Amino acid sequence: MTVRNHRQPTLSARQQRWFLATTLVVGVCAIGYLLLFLDRGNNGNAAAAAPGPRLDQIPFDGARAYGYLKQICALGRRPSGSEGMAAQRKLLKEHFEKLGATVEPQSFTAPDPLTGGPVPMANLIVHWKPERPDRILLCAHYDTLPFPMLDRYNPRGLFVGANDGASGVALLMELGNEMAQLECRYGIDFVFFDGEEYIFRETDRFFLGSEYFARAYRANPPADYRYRCAVLLDMIGDADLQIFQERNSVWWRDSRPLVLGIWATAARLGVREFIPRPKHQVNDDHLALHDIAGIPACDVIDFDYPAWHTQADTPERCSPLSLAKVGWVVREWLRTAQ
Ligand SMILES: [Zn+2]
Repeated sequence: MTVRNHRQPTLSARQQRWFLATTLVVGVCAIGYLLLFLDRGNNGNAAAAAPGPRLDQIPFDGARAYGYLKQICALGRRPSGSEGMAAQRKLLKEHFEKLGATVEPQSFTAPDPLTGGPVPMANLIVHWKPERPDRILLCAHYDTLPFPMLDRYNPRGLFVGANDGASGVALLMELGNEMAQLECRYGIDFVFFDGEEYIFRETDRFFLGSEYFARAYRANPPADYRYRCAVLLDMIGDADLQIFQERNSVWWRDSRPLVLGIWATAARLGVREFIPRPKHQVNDDHLALHDIAGIPACDVIDFDYPAWHTQADTPERCSPLSLAKVGWVVREWLRTAQ
């Protein structure tokens, strides 16, 4: 605009009137558009704030899921190769085996980005009804960022990753309690990815576990089963929940029906925190599943989270109600998945 005005030759009186009128019209349109935009933004928040189902009206135990979230955070920091990660792996293995699942660790090593030395890592694969050839993958990363690198005050402080790490794991732990009764025509595997963010600088490599898993699936396709689709749960515990559709998942032609199916389930249940339009494009573990393993994949993620990668990502920022809503949607989608 500035450049164009600068280039304007001297204007006649008539031209000046026309110019003023045009400027006025453009200005009014711009203000109108801005108001519309703000209104749409508010609608997103209003949807989240509007009275939806209460915790006691949701048939998914969000309170117990939140208990798991706190239990995981109480282990402390859980980056790849740490004591906290080892304790969490033991906790998950015992939890799911007690519920009748087969738990298979998929071990690998990756170089430490600082020293180059090997860091032991392991994805954890939890099989339910392993005899079924058509399977759905539900996944979450279970490692946490080594340090809260975006924390303004203490970027070398303690990061417990309540939402970014524990929330997806806690939801799957609670879903595990329901797997024996769940009617679903597919077999289901939970996969917990290690090495999602064993990073110390933004230039370090993310997604080590999901890439390892996807490469193994592609190099040695299992003889007796196939994954029909994958749903990634990441940062779904935020007390101020707003889950827009993730742009990669919507753009991929083979994955779009999966996105629409999950958001339609949420609409049917009246869970308005699933907002049926795309917002963020997020690089996440679903990229490896889709691009390397060729599995249609959807990232269910609430990326509007001010505490992201800071010390403030603690259980207080998460809520039983958010876990209940997402867990309910995922379970009902599994029950009706065709
Ligand atoms: Zn993260």
